[in-house]
Amino acid sequence: MFVLCGPGGVGKGTVATALLGCTPKLRLSQSWTTRSIRSGESQDAYVFANDFQFKEKIEEGFFVEWASFLGNLYGTPWPHSDVLGCDSHLLLEIDVQGARQIRDRFSDAVIIILVPPSDTELQRRLEKRGDDASHVQARLGLAISEIMAARALGGEEFVNETLAATVDAVSKYMSLKIQACI
Ligand code: 5GP
Repeated sequence: MFVLCGPGGVGKGTVATALLGCTPKLRLSQSWTTRSIRSGESQDAYVFANDFQFKEKIEEGFFVEWASFLGNLYGTPWPHSDVLGCDSHLLLEIDVQGARQIRDRFSDAVIIILVPPSDTELQRRLEKRGDDASHVQARLGLAISEIMAARALGGEEFVNETLAATVDAVSKYMSLKIQACI
């Protein structure tokens, strides 16, 4: 199980999608969220749920991890048993609170930390995504503590300077981990 974490806006989603194209048998977990869909965002980026539906799922034990991030809930459904073996690999694109829960549950989960080249670049990426100004500031305010918390988990860190170079470096790292598992 691979966990891609790092501050919001660093480009985890784009890197995760690109990794699917170059890593055989890699599947991306579809998270649930109570956040509203952004304009232009794909309908299947998440399962979009309301608070009641999400909390009901928590009660049912449906999530392997879940967390509250800037006022919204996000959670990863328990993976099917067929994606937990060595023949198939699961990629979770989640925040650092979730990464900590996964690391505590699955000691062999591989944590991959994406960091931005600079604060200015992170701000530019958040603004480009269309979040409103107060949301951008809130996310920037959280970024440093998210990076520190991710580092404390002891994952491998990659600076997301350009998509191609990051995907190349992360996929090579993942291949090494997969080889070690076989
Ligand atoms: P966004 O609102 O930008 O889509 O996501 C906000 C943050 O929640 C990002 O850091 C994203 O990686 C994280 N996130 C997405 N899905 C999950 C999940 O299932 N669990 C947790 N803990 N975080 C998630």
